[in-house]
Amino acid sequence: MTTTVPAYAAPSAKAPLERTTIPRRDVREHDVRISIEFAGICHSDIHQARDEWGGSIFPMVPGHEIAGTVAEVGPGVTRYAVGDRVGVGCFVDSCRTCANCLAGDEQYCRVGQTPTYNGLDADGEPTYGGYSTEVVVDENYVLGIPEGLALDVAAPLLCAGVTLYSPLKRWQAGPGRKVAIVGMGGLGHMGVKIAAALGADVTVLSQSLRKQEDAERFGADHYYATSDPETFTALEGHFDLIVNTVSANLELDRYLSLLAVDGTLVNVGAPEHPVSLSVFSLIGARRSLAGSMIGGIRETQEMLDFCAEHGLGAEIEVIPADQVNEAYERVVASDVRYRFVIDVSTI
Ligand code: NAP
Ligand code: ZN
Ligand code: ZN
Repeated sequence: MTTTVPAYAAPSAKAPLERTTIPRRDVREHDVRISIEFAGICHSDIHQARDEWGGSIFPMVPGHEIAGTVAEVGPGVTRYAVGDRVGVGCFVDSCRTCANCLAGDEQYCRVGQTPTYNGLDADGEPTYGGYSTEVVVDENYVLGIPEGLALDVAAPLLCAGVTLYSPLKRWQAGPGRKVAIVGMGGLGHMGVKIAAALGADVTVLSQSLRKQEDAERFGADHYYATSDPETFTALEGHFDLIVNTVSANLELDRYLSLLAVDGTLVNVGAPEHPVSLSVFSLIGARRSLAGSMIGGIRETQEMLDFCAEHGLGAEIEVIPADQVNEAYERVVASDVRYRFVIDVSTI
């Protein structure tokens, strides 16, 4: 049995999003029904709604930065009760038995996690994301939003927050470490805030100087424009860690040259086209090139608790649902400060 709920969907890769209705399953033993209040717009929503990564399933209801309250629980639910403030991130299920799931890295499930949207669930039904008024999710894939974090500024943490928190922790961003964040959009601005809260020496590498004041307000210690070639000479061999959040291809060799010996460049941006580099950029200083995708459930909860403790939320622009297509254009033009969040009550 299902309930029909309103949503915003992309009917095809070439068409704008429009209002529609979608089915949501009735709650099962371990399910939670969430009344969604806010849904962040991640650049990945745009890549997928426009089929830039291939394999998109239409109609598509994007949205994997979901915040709301619990409206109903299944009989076996123990973690959440009606009225709890909760979030859902990029996946809603995984096999639960592979080595990666058991290690808490469900995002790297060997069988394949079930994406919150643009995927198929265990019954073979398409999944639909957060640009809708309700979602039904197994309690094990639901996060608790701590008191003190408002739901609107918490929503973007469910993807942007954890996507930066995870590599910053893994590559030991902290006191005495020089960390650069490339691109200060939705992901990047959370990277600046989190890296600063972890105690690292934080540099923003942005296309222009336009966002400098904001970066300093978010906790950045230094700021450089990558449009200025001087930046690359001034910072050669400087960083222990660079996290690249850019949604387009960069000349990786130029960014690798900014790493100290043993430094690591972690890519979290996911551009459409393959990248290339000269291996000499790595071997010349024992550098590493890495990638990282979101975070596991346990780590996502840890990130939410960390953000609540340090008073970190996203910088947001709340929009009504009927402005989603304009918002997409502005994200692509790097004209967002720093995350659009849909007020789901307007759907
Ligand atoms: P976003 O808000 O659009 O931010 C990307 C930023 O990159 C822009 O604000 C801009 O910052 C910079 N940028 C954009 N185009 C550029 C270009 N041509 N050259 C240089 N810099 C450019 O996007 P987002 O939501 O943060 O997502 C960023 C990327 O990460 C997307 O590809 C998304 O799909 C991916 N992503 C990956 C994961 C993961 O798990 N790995 C999770 C979520 C998203 P400045 O103006 O400061 O230069
Ligand atoms: Zn995302
Ligand atoms: Zn698994």
